[in-house]
Amino acid sequence: MKKQFKSESKKLMDMMINSIYTHKEIFLREIISNASDAIDKRHFISLTNPAVGLKKSEYKILIKLDKENRIISVTDNGCGMTEKELENNLGTIAKSGSGEFKAENEQKKNVNIIGQFGVGFYSAFMVSDNVTVKTKSINSEKAYTFTSNGTDGYTITENENSEKDLAGTTVTMHIRPDTESENYSEFLDIYKIRSLIKKYSDYIRYPIIANVPKSKLKEGTENEYIDYEEPETLNSMVPLWKREKSKIKPETYNEFYKNKFADYTDPLKVIHYKTEGSATYSALLFIPKHPPFDFYTKNYQKGLALYSKGVLIMEKCAELLPDYFSFVKGVVDSEDLSLNISREMLQHDGQLKLIAKTLEKKIKNELQKMLENDRENYEEFFKAFGVNLKFGVYNDYGIHKEELKDLLLFNSSNGEKPCTLNEYVLRADNDTIYYACGETKEKIEMLPQCDAVKSKGYEVLYLTDDIDEFAVKVLNEYDGKKFKNVCDNDLDLVSEEDKKLEEAENEKFKDLLEEIKNIVGDISKAKFTKALKDHPVCLTTEGGISLEMEKVLKSMPGADKNQFNANLVFEINSNHKIKDTLINAYNTDKSLFGDYVKLLYDEAALISGKPLKNPSLHTDILCKLITK
Ligand code: ADP
Repeated sequence: MKKQFKSESKKLMDMMINSIYTHKEIFLREIISNASDAIDKRHFISLTNPAVGLKKSEYKILIKLDKENRIISVTDNGCGMTEKELENNLGTIAKSGSGEFKAENEQKKNVNIIGQFGVGFYSAFMVSDNVTVKTKSINSEKAYTFTSNGTDGYTITENENSEKDLAGTTVTMHIRPDTESENYSEFLDIYKIRSLIKKYSDYIRYPIIANVPKSKLKEGTENEYIDYEEPETLNSMVPLWKREKSKIKPETYNEFYKNKFADYTDPLKVIHYKTEGSATYSALLFIPKHPPFDFYTKNYQKGLALYSKGVLIMEKCAELLPDYFSFVKGVVDSEDLSLNISREMLQHDGQLKLIAKTLEKKIKNELQKMLENDRENYEEFFKAFGVNLKFGVYNDYGIHKEELKDLLLFNSSNGEKPCTLNEYVLRADNDTIYYACGETKEKIEMLPQCDAVKSKGYEVLYLTDDIDEFAVKVLNEYDGKKFKNVCDNDLDLVSEEDKKLEEAENEKFKDLLEEIKNIVGDISKAKFTKALKDHPVCLTTEGGISLEMEKVLKSMPGADKNQFNANLVFEINSNHKIKDTLINAYNTDKSLFGDYVKLLYDEAALISGKPLKNPSLHTDILCKLITK
């Protein structure tokens, strides 16, 4: 008699069959995982009832392919199912996680999720138009067959002479005919099956065996071959991450990394550990030597491969890594996660969150250790991924800055090697951490302000990445010392005495300075300074936005070019001859004064890396003065 699926099962099945999901291939993973679970169960039951058990070496999963009849079958010698179990387990989906899955997806109307997260037995219908399950329970004398085409119900019948059958289950799938968009036939190809097993089920603990076609030279001939088939175990059974660390050679790790993550260089660092307790899992993580080519693009997807008891659940589980560690590659295998879990469910899975938290801590500690004990490698790491860490400091309003601040490296005026903030603070006895921004170290070193600060004996951090100053602003201070841009207007490096002189001077030449401001136009003020060493002029900024930040903000896609203007202060060295020249011109020749101001301002702009507003005017004035 034909029975109807429960209504919810029917809906799910419709969804599945009509799914345009490209990962139909996961059906094999699902069927094999069921087989493996069934063997687990049989083994478990045999612990208290030895009569139903087999020898460990006898447990296996067999795959048979019949290209001609378009059939693929998977046989296990696990616990099997009674008639009632068949009915309950395969006639309804309410029992498995799939029920919840379906409820969620009905709201979302997103059937594409099917496939990636395991919907169990029913996934067989994504690739087959008829499925039979022949099974005999270890607790039953009789064997039964469940048959369904997935759309209009199922039948369960007793097998003939079923007392003679062995306990276990065979799932036989009749593969759909190919369509214009789908090549189902590939699932009848042993090479495809082998690669799917490698991809999804390599670490199933029981051998997955299939007959693989081979050929050998016919004896006594030189070029005649005999084709034959030989059983081959397609899975390696023990995952690398489950093996004992001390017994794994570095090359083995490296090869695994390169194969699995398609990199051509060995990883910079391998992190392999197991945890027990609140989150039980093994992790095998890698820090690459260099960023993947798409790392700094939107296409890059962070994430770790997530396994549950050796079965792949998801190739890239993004939830396991914070953005600032998005460069980490690897595998996490947890005993505590269910295979039937959808993405939405995963996001809210407490266990997963716990794992993510401990992973993050571990990665951070390993980086810290590398920084302390393996500086050279750390510097290489930082060259590749430091920007990512600095973004981590800056993002989300700095909530991660405490965890990340000690992992940062900066170049500085103190030698060739980059230093940590802690090293700077230990070396310097100033209350301020001075930094300067620019495109390159060389350009920064030429900044007049940098020179001035260094000449007072202070070390200056050289910030050359766009993100640097933003990160530093978010940090605000380190070890109680505030960060300060050497191009800030209120640098406060002049002595009290000089400050008074400076103030008096600026008051005295108020009109002249006002005139300068009017000539230049886009500055907030002009002033004489005693802070500069040898340079005649410089540009500083007051307020939150520095020149470097202005440049970065304005270069962002879609940015309003009239927004994000730094408040510029044009500073003139009052210890420099240029001061007298200016005053003189101001008193005698206003046109000459105007030319001087424009030229000097352009000099200041050039030195600070700001493009000239009108280069040809600059050239005109210069020629005029030279040929005078
Ligand atoms: P899940 O495996 O998540 O429970 P499935 O839809 O894949 O969901 O399977 C439903 C149930 O059918 C399983 O829980 C199991 O009890 C039973 N089952 C499926 N395949 C087998 C098998 N090969 N041997 C024994 N029982 C099976």
